[in-house]
Amino acid sequence: MDEVVDICRELIRIDTSNYGSDDGPGERKAAEHVAGLLEDVGIDTRIYESTPGRASVVARWGGDGTRTDALLLHGHLDVVPAAAEDWAVHPFSGEVQECQYGGLSVWGRGAVDMKDFDAMLLSVVRERQRSGRVPSRPVVLCFTADEEAGGHLGAEVLVRDHPEEFEGCTEAVGEVGGFSTTVRGQRLYLIEAAEKGMAWMRLTARGRAGHGSMINPDNAVTRIAEAVARIGAYEWPVRLTPTMRTLLGTVGAIAGTDVTPENARTLVEEFGGATRMLGAVISNTTNPTMLSAGYKVNVVPTEASAHIDGRFLPGYEDEFFRTMAELCGEDVSIDFVSNQQPWETPYDGALVDAMTRSLLAEDPDALVAPFLMSGGTDAKHFRALGMRTYGFTPLRLPDDLDFTALFHGVDERVPVDALRFGARVLDRFLDQV
Ligand SMILES: [Zn+2]
Repeated sequence: MDEVVDICRELIRIDTSNYGSDDGPGERKAAEHVAGLLEDVGIDTRIYESTPGRASVVARWGGDGTRTDALLLHGHLDVVPAAAEDWAVHPFSGEVQECQYGGLSVWGRGAVDMKDFDAMLLSVVRERQRSGRVPSRPVVLCFTADEEAGGHLGAEVLVRDHPEEFEGCTEAVGEVGGFSTTVRGQRLYLIEAAEKGMAWMRLTARGRAGHGSMINPDNAVTRIAEAVARIGAYEWPVRLTPTMRTLLGTVGAIAGTDVTPENARTLVEEFGGATRMLGAVISNTTNPTMLSAGYKVNVVPTEASAHIDGRFLPGYEDEFFRTMAELCGEDVSIDFVSNQQPWETPYDGALVDAMTRSLLAEDPDALVAPFLMSGGTDAKHFRALGMRTYGFTPLRLPDDLDFTALFHGVDERVPVDALRFGARVLDRFLDQV
């Protein structure tokens, strides 16, 4: 079973930093390593390069002809960059060391996002293939490039240019979810069933240029500043989608209270460290992030601009864009730098049952509930092919570990016990899919 630890360390040691440009090392080396691990046990693989060095791996596994509906299991190979000088251990060393939560952890960039799951998947598939425990349902294994920059050179290209690789896939399982949090001493596993949409916007105000010493009621800088202040200070109302209503219902049951829009924020605070993320998914959000105007102190410029990072809930797109237009006012226009749709999969059916049962088999006193993620993953690309998507990368974590802070964080690490736990859960899951 320790193959999961070894593979995780090997993958961390292959630097796949994604800078969102051509500057990084790319995923080719990692893709070849993954393909080798699968080919070793007799599973055929294909490596696809979108541009030189940016590689993804696909394989088809299992299926005895009794079922035509396939299951996609996917993980990304790239990681966000890491500045080694900030870290206690080198981010690409894959070292196993003690951590303050007790026990050994595998340290390094990608330890939780998401070479941990890649390693679980590879170790479990290899073990089952070697021992002939191949699932009767066809399974597609996919390890993608470029997830950390939107998946344009990874999942998006695969779905567009090689949809035949995903033929028959009705459901997909990838990141982010399946990890435990602890609420009032009760361990709770969160399965991702929804993601927020993203609107990166550039606002532009135009006005009349002129000398800085004269009266100018038509000042573009004043206009953009007013709009940015309105947007930054706006308190978006609480909106509970079905996913979050289910999650907060579970938390409410632990805390002995019903869920209402009024107490939703208080209930979310029960999550401790995870509140940072879960607090952002009970409303739309907008954060002003960039400002730009002018070139000399005594010249009023014609134009001023700002960038806003907007995130909106599934089902609340219209409210988001209507409110944004009102907050901007008539004199400020909006262009989209990037715009991604939100999604929400109903939390029901055989696959949800299989995830729940396999978690509870390894941790019988725990609870399992769905959650909505604040960011986006490759799931959005696979949904374009009509799949129901979930995030399920099972990890049983120490109660006091601030897990969500490890994503893209300094000293990213995953407890060795949690990796082993995840591999056992995934193995049970494959018995039931
Ligand atoms: Zn990730």
